[in-house]
Amino acid sequence: MGNGSSFDSSKQVYLMINGSLEKIVFSLHSSTRDVQELICQAGKVNRFSQVTLRNVDGAYVTVSPTIPQNDENHAYIAEITPPNLTDVSVSNPSTDLVPVQIMEQLAREMSSRYAKPDEVNTGELLDRVKTLENRMDVEGLKAVDIDVCKKSIDTIKGQIYEAQKKFIDYNRLRDGSGLPEIGLPSKRGPSVPHYTKYILSKETIEYLKQPTFDIWHWEPNEMLSLLEHMYHELGLVREFNIHGVTLKKWLLCIQENYRNNPFHNFRHCFCVTQMMYGMIHLCKLHESISKEDIGILITACICHDLDHPGYNNTYQINARTQLALRYNDISPLENHHCAVAFEILSNPETNIFANCDTETFKRIREGITTLILATDMAKHAEILDLFKANLKEGNFDLTSREHFNSLKMVLIKCCDISNEVRPMEISEPWLDCLLEEYFNQSDKEKEQGLPVAPFMDREKVTKPTAQIGFIKFVLLPMFEEVSKLFPQLHSVMVEPLRKARDHWERLKEQDDELRHKQEA
Ligand code: 5GP
Ligand code: MN
Repeated sequence: MGNGSSFDSSKQVYLMINGSLEKIVFSLHSSTRDVQELICQAGKVNRFSQVTLRNVDGAYVTVSPTIPQNDENHAYIAEITPPNLTDVSVSNPSTDLVPVQIMEQLAREMSSRYAKPDEVNTGELLDRVKTLENRMDVEGLKAVDIDVCKKSIDTIKGQIYEAQKKFIDYNRLRDGSGLPEIGLPSKRGPSVPHYTKYILSKETIEYLKQPTFDIWHWEPNEMLSLLEHMYHELGLVREFNIHGVTLKKWLLCIQENYRNNPFHNFRHCFCVTQMMYGMIHLCKLHESISKEDIGILITACICHDLDHPGYNNTYQINARTQLALRYNDISPLENHHCAVAFEILSNPETNIFANCDTETFKRIREGITTLILATDMAKHAEILDLFKANLKEGNFDLTSREHFNSLKMVLIKCCDISNEVRPMEISEPWLDCLLEEYFNQSDKEKEQGLPVAPFMDREKVTKPTAQIGFIKFVLLPMFEEVSKLFPQLHSVMVEPLRKARDHWERLKEQDDELRHKQEA
């Protein structure tokens, strides 16, 4: 077993809650929220209560999966305060009704409204449903209540969906499209949700351009709609003369070719693309570069991790996998992502560039390939150095092919590893996902007698140690460089990164202090 702050397979922690000694056990896969909820459960209080822990010396202890183990004689003292729900309101019904009652009321109201379809304001209804869903999340209902609420929400969404027949149904397309067999390892698409929300509110559409966009809030079908929206909004549908149904089929096929890995999954693809969309708007790139290049940037993001198997290049090479063999150990994964992307585009049904002339398609293919290959982190220093050198001359020139190519490569790299730019509550779950994937790999490497990278080893990594170096030596130097060219990125990207670095450094200091105390 490793020391207190490393990831062991399970961890026991003793707590004193209201004078009663309790023990909680959690696994390395737990998130901070899991641990917090477990403590609430031990204290028999609402799972969204505020939890503060102190050790026997009275010092505050961070609630997180890295919390140091203790014994009965050194139990942490837990102070638990009920959650503040006053800021969570619903738009119409009285807030002192419990959500189940509100749902029932809303469902009744909906039925009578749908008797007169002309009077339906789906936007308003969706907003109300969303507020209720948020409230359900915050209040921590009993399972039986959640069930009732979810059923009512589903009924309401079904009705809204019926009223929106003009929107093409992704699920129907999925059933009847005869999507191509692309001769790749067998892939399972994510489960098909049984309802769909296609109407994007004005607020969502604006919010989509911000790095603070809540990327966890959306189901797969909604992410598809959001991606589709980007192609329309950026003028790409018109530029490439993309048929509406082809765009939908292509996006579906992309989604189906992402595997359900903890980290390298369709949501990661969505995040990288959304960050690129945000950067395009923040830097007003659509005013300074061609639509063709915007299309290359966005499409490369969408395709950049296609069919990722969840084990990195080092594993592929050391384990001498088929991918490493096929690509002679040269960026096997990135070559594969790119090959899958063009396999999909080789089918006319899913080729969003089908209406482009041969020369345009050639340029697009070259552009996308260069960008996907640039996401191999083994090339990080080379790509950043090239960009820095171009910038140093003081006359960065978007019309120079070389300068512009280096910018595009740096942009996709920024988006690819941009989780820490997002607000802490959004970025932290991504770190749990990344570590889960790392630990899966290192476990397998240990099993197969292959070399194990220390940064993937559950015995050596903690969340703070995983992030501090990555932010200081990879993220900040790159984002600082890009914000020299686009100063507007400083406050929305560089500043949040510095805050994240300080946050993880504080956590590490606390971890270290506690460990020293325990060892003393
Ligand atoms: P990708 O595999 O997503 O194309 O390339 C990005 C790589 O950068 C990931 O595989 C992962 O190794 C690394 N990376 C991305 N985000 C983070 C992060 O937040 N922390 C750390 N430590 N590594 C990251
Ligand atoms: Mn990626």
